[in-house]
Formats: sequence, structure tokens, C-alpha cells
Amino acid sequence: MQKMKLSVKKMIQLALCVLIYCGIQCVILYLDKNHLTSYNGVMTAIQFCVCLIMTFLDRRIGAKISCVMIALSMADMLFVMVMTHRLAPLPGFCNLLVYMILLVVLTKQFYDQERDAVTDFLTGLYNQRGLYRVLRREIENRNPVFVVYVDLTNYKIINDNYGHSYGDQVLRTVTERMSEIVGGDGVLSRVGGDEFVLVLNGYCDAQEVTERVLNRLSEKISILKDGSRIDSYLTAYAGISAYPKDGESAEELIKFADIAMYQASKAKKEKICFFNKEMEERLKRKVELEKLIKDSLEHDYFYLVYQPQYRLADKKLRGFETLLRLREPGGEIVSPAEFIPVAEKGELILQIDKYVLRRAMTEYRDVVKEADKGLIISVNVSAKNFGRVGFVEQVRRLLKETGFPPANLEVEITEYCLVQSMETTVNNICGLRELGVQVALDDFGTGYTSLSYLAKMPINLLKVDKSLIDDIEKDDKSLDFVNAVIAMGHMMGCEVISEGVENERQLDLLNDQKCDFVQGFVWGRPMDYEAAMEIARMV
Ligand code: C2E
Ligand code: MG
Ligand code: MG
Repeated sequence: MQKMKLSVKKMIQLALCVLIYCGIQCVILYLDKNHLTSYNGVMTAIQFCVCLIMTFLDRRIGAKISCVMIALSMADMLFVMVMTHRLAPLPGFCNLLVYMILLVVLTKQFYDQERDAVTDFLTGLYNQRGLYRVLRREIENRNPVFVVYVDLTNYKIINDNYGHSYGDQVLRTVTERMSEIVGGDGVLSRVGGDEFVLVLNGYCDAQEVTERVLNRLSEKISILKDGSRIDSYLTAYAGISAYPKDGESAEELIKFADIAMYQASKAKKEKICFFNKEMEERLKRKVELEKLIKDSLEHDYFYLVYQPQYRLADKKLRGFETLLRLREPGGEIVSPAEFIPVAEKGELILQIDKYVLRRAMTEYRDVVKEADKGLIISVNVSAKNFGRVGFVEQVRRLLKETGFPPANLEVEITEYCLVQSMETTVNNICGLRELGVQVALDDFGTGYTSLSYLAKMPINLLKVDKSLIDDIEKDDKSLDFVNAVIAMGHMMGCEVISEGVENERQLDLLNDQKCDFVQGFVWGRPMDYEAAMEIARMV
């Protein structure tokens, strides 16, 4: 659309030039009785048209050649006038002078438009288009370069909290700081709201320059807002790809630097990450998995397995934890440890949770009702769902739809949920309890739950993570730790279950500490629906 507008504008400019030219020629023809002078005028007019057409065809070269041609003609005329002491070429000379001025004005306009098209208005840096242009030029010239993708992870929060004008000033400060460090070593561009790409000279120490950039960015930013100073701190991550080592095209190099930046921000250990081929493989797998999850939700490649939970004192069946499995069309089984984190990155996890809740309740409704043994079906629900207003309502509707008794449903949340949207999560836990649904805290001991928060949670069951259980028979410290966790759970009024119990010795030690329940390979691996039904019926 913008291109269209520009070309119409150019056409109008061209037509105007031709009109002005024709007007001048008519005046000269009318005033001048000497036919030779008019002939000269026609020739210069043709020359001028050729110049204009060339300039429109190729701005850079056309404008230069045109200027040279016109300047030569003018010099020629001047020479003739001086040598012959006659003023006959003067009208032509004046014409050319006008053309020259017109050409310079037009060319300047072209250059301004061109510069605007590759410039980010806020920061004055190159925009994405400019970046591609710079990078393609370097590649064409076979100059080795590093592409550094920098992302400001908490910029959005600052922007939302202090407003857009404050946010804009932060970006300008970021630009200044980056320019200070990069200097002549590279070119800077802004490619998204809070994303910058630096093209660094391939002979500099990219790690060192990027480190200095990130350090400088992490320093306090102090900006005046409504008369008072507001301080903020940015966190930035960077990914680096190299030409020609990693890729041969601008698109590839930018994509690879972006992938490396994503890895750095995910791992959070190092703030800078160099691209390598495994990263690309991982990204491909992630894209594959996303597609697989969508297909599975549509064509039902998912199925549930059930792992029994027993009371430790008398091995009485408490119920089952439902664990999701994905069978690829080729027959291969994908572990939830692989696909759940991918689903959790986006919104797919919400659909998965809904699917598992509905399926678990539907499959187990009859067993639970018929047996009336108070068997519990435990379902894992992601942190995203717990941090969402409306989750309790969804569970209520599913309970109604499936006719599942709420007291037999348990929802497992991980400690991770509690550090996210704290308030909504607590509200959701309370809401579920009001529905009569039980709530278990999964993987306890692996997260960062504050004990003061934990004490306020109306949780029924604490699930001690397998990693804490693993060494209790070999290491006294591990055992003491697990004992303390069990005692704490009881103190909070919760029951305690140990996960991942694999041998009799662990069972004995946990029994000594009055752990209430166990779940682990020692008494039962995850099994299919029929096998679980059989165990449930035997109770
Ligand atoms: P989790 O909820 O902590 O589940 C327990 C995991 O430990 C399961 O792995 C289970 O098979 C495994 N496990 C149980 N006992 C033993 C044992 O004695 N030894 C060993 N080595 N492993 C044992 P799984 O099925 O691969 O699930 C991994 C994780 O995936 C789960 O951890 C849970 O966080 C997630 N997940 C599984 N199903 C679902 C689901 O339906 N929805 C959601 N949101 N997450 C799920
Ligand atoms: Mg679980
Ligand atoms: Mg667990």
C-alpha cells in the first residue's frame, strides 16, 4: 500500500517536471527567433528526460550519472560562451541549471524516503529492513560477522507499570548505552518492541563485546517522570550466531541468533549463548511436538495410564494418579516429561488439562460410583491453569457433565504454581475445596515454596518428590530431611505421600516415619485402564 502511494507520488513529481520543462521550452520558442538556439533547447530537453528516466529506474546510479551529464553539458556551454564571446547558449545553460536543481531536490527526497524506510523512528537505529540490508551487504562482500540478538526480558513490565512515554525513554537510553559500547565494531538495529540485533565485525571478540553490552544494560536507569525520578533495572539475554560458520543467509543468521537467545533466557545460567546445531534440532523437535499435540487433541492420540497409590500401613488402595501418554501415529510413545513442557510454553496445556480431567472422570466414574470405596483419582493440572480465573468453574462444569463425585477427585498442583500468580492460585485452591475436590501439592521439595504461604494453603496431601526419596536408604541426611518434611506435612494438617518409592528398604524407612501413603514402582507401575479397573474391583 505504501509502495503504491510512493509510486503515485513519484509519477506526479515526474509529470510536474516534464510540464515545467515544456513550459520553459515554449517560452523560449516563443521569444527566440533563432532556430538553432531552439534546437539546442530540444536537445537539452531530451537529455533531461533521459536523466529523469534513469534516475527513476535506479536512484543511486541514475542520479549520479544525470548530475555528471548535466554538469558536463553546462561546462561545455560555459566553455563555448567564454571562447566565442556569444551568449546564444545562455538559455540552454539556464535550463540545465534549473534541471540540475530539480534533480538534486528529487534525489534528496529519494534518499530521505529510503533512509526512513530502514530507520526505527523511536531510536534512530536501523529497523528490521535496515538490518537485512546491512547483513546482506556483509554477506555479499564475504565479510565475517557476528549477529547478536538481544532481548530485554522485563521491559514489558516496566512499560506497563510506568507508561509508554517512560518506556520510550528507556529504549532511547538502551540505544545510547549500546552505541557507546559497540562503537565502530558494529551496527545496531531494533527489530521488535524490546529486541535489538547487533551486527558485529567478525574479527572482534563477540563474547566480550556482548558481555559489556549486557552489563551496561543491567545498570540502573533513572528517568524523570512527572517531576520525580523513577529508577528501573533491565534484564537482558543475548544469542550469537556467526557468518559464515553458522549460516549463509541473513534470515538464517538472525533466526539462529534468536534461537540462541531463547536458550540463554530459558537456561538462565549464562546470559549469553552461542548458537549450535543441537539448538536447531531441539527447536525443530519443539515445533514437531507442538504439531503432534494439536493432532493428538484432534485425533485422540492421547491416552491415560494409572499409577496406584497405597496406604503404607496396610497396603490398602487409596486410588490412582492419572498420567498422560501420547502415541505417535508410527506407534512410538512420547513421555509427558517431553511434551508437557512444550505444551506449557503456550496455551495448549489448557486444552490438555481439560482433556485429561474429562477423560479421567469419564473413565473412572463408574468404578468410583459402583465400588463406593472412596477411591481417589488424582489429575495433574498445570501452573497456567491454576493461575487462571475461571479454572474452578471449568472443573465444576466437568464434574456436572460427567456426574463424577467431587470428593473422589484430587487435583495435583506443583510448587511452581505457588510462585506464579499467587493470589489467583490460592483463590482457585479455595474454590476447589469448596466444591469438595481435594488438592495435592506435587513434587514437594523441588520448588521454592515459602513456608508461610504453604501454611495458608488448604491442601490435603503433600507429595514428597522422588528426588528426596532416592537416597534415604544410603544417606542419613536424606532420611533426616524426608522425616522433617513428613513431620511438617502432618503439622500443617496434611496427609503425606512419598513418590517414586522403588524398594522395600525405602518402604520400611518411610513406615518408621509414619508416612501415610506411597506411590512407586515397588508396589505398582503406571498401568492401563483395564489393569487399574481390576485392582480397583478387588478392593
Ligand atoms: P509427576 O506428576 O510427579 O508424576 C510422577 C512421575 O514419576 C511419573 O512419570 C511416574 O511414571 C514416575 N514414577 C512414579 N513412580 C516411580 C518410580 O518408582 N520410579 C521412577 N523412576 N519413576 C516413577 P511420567 O508419567 O513420565 O510423568 C512425568 C511428569 O509429567 C509428571 O510428574 C507430571 O508433572 C507430568 N504429567 C504427567 N501426566 C500429566 C497430565 O495429565 N497433565 C499434566 N499437566 N502433567 C502431566
Ligand atoms: Mg503428579
Ligand atoms: Mg510428582
